[in-house]
Amino acid sequence: MACDGDFRIIAAQTTDTVETAREILDLAPVAADALGRALTGSLLLARLLDKDVKNQYVTLRFEGDGPLGVVIAEGTVRGGARGYVSNRVPVDASLDVGRGIGRGMLTVVRGTPPAGKPYTSQVLLNGCGVAKELTHYMMRSEQIASAVLLGVLDRRDGVAAAGGIVIQAFPHASTTAIDAIEERIKEAPPLSTLIEKMPIEDVVAQVLHGLDYKQIDSSLDVPLSYHCTCTRERALAPLTLFSAGELRDMIKEGGSEVTCQFCGRKYAFTREDLMTLTARHDT
Ligand SMILES: [Zn+2]
Repeated sequence: MACDGDFRIIAAQTTDTVETAREILDLAPVAADALGRALTGSLLLARLLDKDVKNQYVTLRFEGDGPLGVVIAEGTVRGGARGYVSNRVPVDASLDVGRGIGRGMLTVVRGTPPAGKPYTSQVLLNGCGVAKELTHYMMRSEQIASAVLLGVLDRRDGVAAAGGIVIQAFPHASTTAIDAIEERIKEAPPLSTLIEKMPIEDVVAQVLHGLDYKQIDSSLDVPLSYHCTCTRERALAPLTLFSAGELRDMIKEGGSEVTCQFCGRKYAFTREDLMTLTARHDT
């Protein structure tokens, strides 16, 4: 909380989460940068949008015309995130995240499994980078005036720092308070260079120096990690879309293997598994 309750601040240090994503998905620097920002954004939004829901997740799907193709990030309120980049090694090494994603559509899905229908909304992508796209989304779709700061710092041997801060203005926030916060954000050094040097609490203190704020409840802190929720059952789901004939071909070949696009885990399905599926077609 800052400025007499006019603002809420949520911050995340995601260095290990993003480095794990880079390793597992074998991402080029710009892909790690884009996905790292998206993963951090999804974790922050999962916390921000509804803190009373225990199982909430937020999925961000960036579908732009840039060379990275589709970028998907999913974060849960419990602190697990996973993601995917369809073109993980773009040819142009000079790309930044904004051009890498390009213009197109951002789809945000919020859900609370297992019950409840997911809530989906979309905004146009302007090719201006993940933090600005998310700021725009929150204003347009959630009617939350906010500032989103995200950063990923790549070094030769991997991700050296990653994280983000979301500052949300409550509707009663005074103009003076909004001006003060905007001033601090404008002056702030690149977030990732701060995160490399100090704990996230100190990064927040540095960015918001001179403003009165306090941490309201440290029991709300959650550890963050790259965590895939895939299961054998879910991996089998796409195979149910094949026709009986296609399944019979797979059976002839001795089985099938499905690789999870988020974590690379391989699920092997035997002839017998596939025969059970064809039996479903027959009934
Ligand atoms: Zn997986």
